[in-house]
Amino acid sequence: QAKANGRGTYRIFETAMGQSFREREALKQDLRGAVARGELHLVYQPLLDLATNRVNGFEALLRWHHPTRGLVPPVFFIPVAEEMGLIVEIGAWALDRACHDAATWPEGITVAVNLSSVQFRTGNVLQTVAHSLLQSGLSGKRLQLEITESVLLADSAANLELLHALRTLGITISMDDFGTGYSSLSYLRSYPFDKIKIDRSFVSDLSMNEASAGPKAIVRAIIGLAQSLGMTITAEGVETASQISVLRSMGCNEVQGFLISKPVGAEGVAETISRLNNASVL
Ligand code: C2E
Ligand code: MG
Ligand code: MG
Ligand code: MG
Repeated sequence: QAKANGRGTYRIFETAMGQSFREREALKQDLRGAVARGELHLVYQPLLDLATNRVNGFEALLRWHHPTRGLVPPVFFIPVAEEMGLIVEIGAWALDRACHDAATWPEGITVAVNLSSVQFRTGNVLQTVAHSLLQSGLSGKRLQLEITESVLLADSAANLELLHALRTLGITISMDDFGTGYSSLSYLRSYPFDKIKIDRSFVSDLSMNEASAGPKAIVRAIIGLAQSLGMTITAEGVETASQISVLRSMGCNEVQGFLISKPVGAEGVAETISRLNNASVL
């Protein structure tokens, strides 16, 4: 399924790529030099606070401008990068870029960076994060790390220790895509998350089945759960005003989605903050 770049882009890409072994090998080959050639960049999508109607921060999302294939969506190249182990280098680059960018933003605006399970397994996450904070001068309080269940599958004692160490740097840990894994609930019990991001499939269900009670009941329950555990709750993939009003009435803290803003380049961050902070519609 197309994630961010519009259906047209995705279709062209799909036709161009296929999923053949040769194509995949070619993609790997190209990805190897992508960081050094400066083909990767980050875009930033705002997270809007529903209580204040102001921007809390931005999520950093990787983009790859392939010299001949055009924009390759992360759903295609991140799995390949993980398979190659290259995600450790790419992830470290993304973290560093995001910290440096965020250090230039207004005080209090946070940046969220996605971490791959491969970084957790083989990369030195704590050292990488600490280095980027130090080099950029960004306070740990302004950095959020988004992880999915797949990060936590193995090695729970070591992971727990790592999450605690990151939190002592002031960093916020978010559980991404909540509800899509098979044991989201047990992870909530075991790990010290600060924030839960409800997967956008639950958010889109809110308007797909407006008449039925099920989707609302599920979202309400997730929000209630997060609140009773003292965690902040963010809804991903918000695309309609009616989704916002339902989420707001349920006490959801924060929203992210195309309705608020698509991801913007680093140069668009300041403008996005002032536009959203001065908009009364949401
Ligand atoms: P994610 O972390 O769950 O990021 C949210 C995705 O939802 C982004 O897709 C974003 O563009 C998309 N999105 C936001 N609002 C809407 C909406 O209203 N409707 C729809 N249909 N989609 C929306 P994107 O940028 O294609 O990224 C896809 C996934 O790739 C991310 O999902 C994340 O898992 C991964 N990813 C992106 N950047 C990085 C990175 O730097 N490191 C790692 N490890 N993974 C990354
Ligand atoms: Mg994320
Ligand atoms: Mg997500
Ligand atoms: Mg998601």
